[in-house]
Amino acid sequence: MRRYSICDNCLGRVFANLLTGYSNKERGRFVKSVVAMLIDCGEKIEIDPSNIRDIKLRNLKVEAEKKKCYFCGDFFENKIEFLAKKIVEKLKEYDFSTFLIGTKLSGELKLKEEEMLDLINPEFYESIKSEINREIGKKVEAMTNKRMNREAPEVIVLVDLEKEVVSLNVKSLFIVGEYKKFVRNLPQATWYCQSCKGKGCENCKGTGLLYKSSVQMIIEKPILKVTKGKKSKIHAAGREDIDVRCLGWRPFVIEIVKPKVRKVELKKLEKEINKSKKIKVRLIKVVEDGSKLVKFLKSEKAEKTYLAEVVFEKQIDKNKLKLIDGLKNSVIYQKTPTRVLKRRSDRIRKKYVREIKWKLKNSKTLILKIRASSGLYVKELITGDEGRTKPSISEILNNKPIKVLLDVIKIHSDWKRMIGGR
Ligand SMILES: [Zn+2]
Ligand SMILES: [Zn+2]
Repeated sequence: MRRYSICDNCLGRVFANLLTGYSNKERGRFVKSVVAMLIDCGEKIEIDPSNIRDIKLRNLKVEAEKKKCYFCGDFFENKIEFLAKKIVEKLKEYDFSTFLIGTKLSGELKLKEEEMLDLINPEFYESIKSEINREIGKKVEAMTNKRMNREAPEVIVLVDLEKEVVSLNVKSLFIVGEYKKFVRNLPQATWYCQSCKGKGCENCKGTGLLYKSSVQMIIEKPILKVTKGKKSKIHAAGREDIDVRCLGWRPFVIEIVKPKVRKVELKKLEKEINKSKKIKVRLIKVVEDGSKLVKFLKSEKAEKTYLAEVVFEKQIDKNKLKLIDGLKNSVIYQKTPTRVLKRRSDRIRKKYVREIKWKLKNSKTLILKIRASSGLYVKELITGDEGRTKPSISEILNNKPIKVLLDVIKIHSDWKRMIGGR
């Protein structure tokens, strides 16, 4: 106060960690009042008189021009409300109940704070950033009737004070469910055209897609419509190949990015999605923080049971069929299948067949029911992939499969304990 004109907020911030239940503005006012009293009783205290120009002394007359706060340039007086209004305008189109404010200081405010820290004892000081966040937050609370929440805000508001630009970081909405897939040639996640990455080009006839549809597209459609989300991401407990059906329930989490509406009626959405003949879903619940469940689904390594219908080149040698039983509980060595070599590194995987049952359909067709450890390539277990998977059904029967129709019939996941019921 001796050297500079300082506003109540900036002065109070030096004493922020003293007394409780007051704003820094009030703390600054207390200090100024005490100093003004001392001056009023005749103490020789030299200060910049603009600091107490709006306090009425009884015995002396202080006259001073109003000056801007040296440290914040009257930020608290002029900018808090302005920014709060800007934020509320931006938040208008989003449905949320909790938020948090984060600010990026301007270069000027940063420099002035450093200067202040050189002048004061910082023991009870609060950073200007923290005060700005709180003061803007209080205003936004009052204007919107929503609550600030430090732990799990639904919207994080970022304010760049240099540019006075507001941006929003809206938390995704996570819907947990399970699906079945009744058709072949439908990928789980949306496959974008590789030439244009989804923009649309000649190769994909402008659709941006490699496959016309996907499990994800069918599920997201009504959800994006209701939530007005930007896009979705699907996270599931593994995925069946495009040409494989999934007749057992597969757990998934669909993440809606930047939802504007957060309240959804699962039963209604479920009905909408299930109008599709290609898949069926059960939507189980909305979870606040989907990341834990997503992590669980990605790391669980659930065993799967498959049903395979295999047509062989030659008649099946009945004497060899019993040898298939020997695969139960045996180790399968799999080099990365040739069909995925482009995407995955070439190495040997050690997987297990837990159970295997077989039934002849006709002289060339065999039905297999296989329960396998997570990540076992079942098609290759059947075909042998030119010796890259050992042992294999093809090797055991000494016969070449010419057609393999595969269904996942059960995913042995323990995920339900992660989510509870509907
Ligand atoms: Zn100030
Ligand atoms: Zn394209």
